[in-house]
Amino acid sequence: MENKKILNAHKKKEEDVVVDLALRPTAWQDYVGQDKTKKNLKVILDASKKRGESSDHLLFYGQAGLGKTTLAYLVAKEMNANLKVTSGPALEKTGDLAAILTNLEKGDILFIDEAHRLNRMIEEVLYPALESRKLHLIVGKGPGARTLSIDLPPFTLVAATTRANLLSGPLRSRFGATFKLDYYEPVDIEAIVRRSAKLLNLKIDDKAIVVIAAASRFTPRTANRLLRRVRDYAEVNNLKVVDEAAAKNTLEMLEVDNLGLEPTDRQLLSIIIEKFHGGPVGIQTLAAALSDDQGIIEDVYEPYLMKIGLLNRTPAGRMATPEAYQHLGIKIPGDGGLV
Ligand code: ADP
Repeated sequence: MENKKILNAHKKKEEDVVVDLALRPTAWQDYVGQDKTKKNLKVILDASKKRGESSDHLLFYGQAGLGKTTLAYLVAKEMNANLKVTSGPALEKTGDLAAILTNLEKGDILFIDEAHRLNRMIEEVLYPALESRKLHLIVGKGPGARTLSIDLPPFTLVAATTRANLLSGPLRSRFGATFKLDYYEPVDIEAIVRRSAKLLNLKIDDKAIVVIAAASRFTPRTANRLLRRVRDYAEVNNLKVVDEAAAKNTLEMLEVDNLGLEPTDRQLLSIIIEKFHGGPVGIQTLAAALSDDQGIIEDVYEPYLMKIGLLNRTPAGRMATPEAYQHLGIKIPGDGGLV
């Protein structure tokens, strides 16, 4: 299972961290798309700056690789603030969070990635910190235990999550504004690929850009990752300019098809079609048949398959659409021929 995770090109890997940093937009004008979010965010930030206050706490949610972390950095830059970065899984004990909170300075921005993975105890410490800038610490044990209350400087929490529905209600209600990041339009992904190619000093023609963008699952991180693989291919084959054929050959080597589906995506669809007659099939049964984690199926594979109309979620379970049969070249039962 671990191998499968490593193979999936749309998940975050070690090398992404380095390249994410190199290609991450550091100015609003380089942050392509998401216009509504950018506009609304700017209003909030401008108003806070005018009042000379920290902004309200902000929540960004959406699929991995859509630009939540990048936005957090842009918010910090706009507010001329330090950004302290941590994540839900990294905060195990209340002491971990207390250490971060007591080190905050006035105006700082605290970024918590994967906020849906914060544990209950940490959330309990976070609530008063967010609401009244107080840190309540319990000192001692048993009957002699007492609560110590520490004042915190004004700060802004920026939280990111792929699963807003898993955030507890009380935590969600502490954010002054919530922004949903959507999948990008193909033209926006093309613009991102073009910009990244420039930063990587890679000559690439328009047709190759279209091929890469089409296989990018409407996701900037995936686009950048595919572009890097194309660059490797060009280097190994001594190509001066990346053309359509080079882009297509690279995708073929990676087993990424023209819609950006990887082997696991195709396997998921073919299991529904071949083992469960097209569905509906329950998510747990599907996870067992695919030997993959239910959360990963729900978080990573399904949203994109639904977005491109190959999968439906119904109350009775998951169903493959006629388009899924068509994409995999499988005949629909009872149908005269291939659709
Ligand atoms: P997330 O935090 O949602 O997983 P990131 O902010 O880490 O996503 O984005 C991943 C990479 O994708 C960034 O390093 C950046 O190179 C690229 N990226 C994301 N959003 C944009 C955007 N709107 N414009 C240009 N590049 C982007």
